[in-house]
Amino acid sequence: MRRSIAAEVARRPNDDRFDLRGERASLATMHGKERVIAPLLRRFLGLRVETVHGLDTDRFGTFTREVPRPGSQRDAARAKIAAAFAGNPGVRVAVASEGRFGPHPIVPFAPLGVEIVLLADRDTGIEILGQFVDLDAMWTHAIVTDIAAARIFAESIGFPVQGIIVSGCKDEGPCPESGLFKDVQDHADLERAVDNVIARCGAAVVETDMRAHCNPRRMKAIKRATVNLIREFGTRCPNCDRPGFVITERIPGAPCALCGTPTRLIRAEASACAGCGHRAKNSVGPPAADPSLCDACNP
Ligand SMILES: [Zn+2]
Ligand SMILES: [Zn+2]
Repeated sequence: MRRSIAAEVARRPNDDRFDLRGERASLATMHGKERVIAPLLRRFLGLRVETVHGLDTDRFGTFTREVPRPGSQRDAARAKIAAAFAGNPGVRVAVASEGRFGPHPIVPFAPLGVEIVLLADRDTGIEILGQFVDLDAMWTHAIVTDIAAARIFAESIGFPVQGIIVSGCKDEGPCPESGLFKDVQDHADLERAVDNVIARCGAAVVETDMRAHCNPRRMKAIKRATVNLIREFGTRCPNCDRPGFVITERIPGAPCALCGTPTRLIRAEASACAGCGHRAKNSVGPPAADPSLCDACNP
């Protein structure tokens, strides 16, 4: 289909309704995330990022479990976006980041960190998600019964550059109600906190601080999620030019090279536009799958 001249004119860069250059953006963080997010959004999208003053993001949940984090990761980021808009009235854009950590679902003893950065534009209604999956996240803990073991743990994670949280211990798990030390700055602090908790619980849980400003590895992951967000923003719908024309579906079924049976190997990727509904499908991977992936040849 040929694009009309009117549509071509509407696509001129200085008349682009999706252009964010020169706009203000509000970022909800109290953990220094602007250090990595703001320069990237300024350089690539032209956004002027401001943080929200006096915002307590801990009310959206803490890593140390005093405040649970309900809902999906995206829901949690959306709640922070709403607070960012409320905290800086008049801004067009709000940005929030949210991390989740847990054991890797397949690889034993490996941690898995999923970092997302979400951008919302009030004028156009677009919401763009950047993501980074960290297979080597700094997320670990130990249960210690003396200060020597706590010191070994501290050394293994790179304390004090990487922060430590000390909390009470009950049934071999963390129990923040019986002790929680979040601002352990040096080895003397660590010793005091561990002694205090062991005196009460008999053991202490020492774990990596997951707050961005205390976890350099996490700060790097947030940076990578922001780069991914910028890339997703730059992927435009070929029909209406809306940012965020991203892959929404991966379609398996590449045929076996030997017998032609559809396999689990991805044969195509589909993208869909959240604005106009335009869809596109691209073939990916080799035209035929290796017989080792075939359930008929290699059951
Ligand atoms: Zn086969
Ligand atoms: Zn579209």
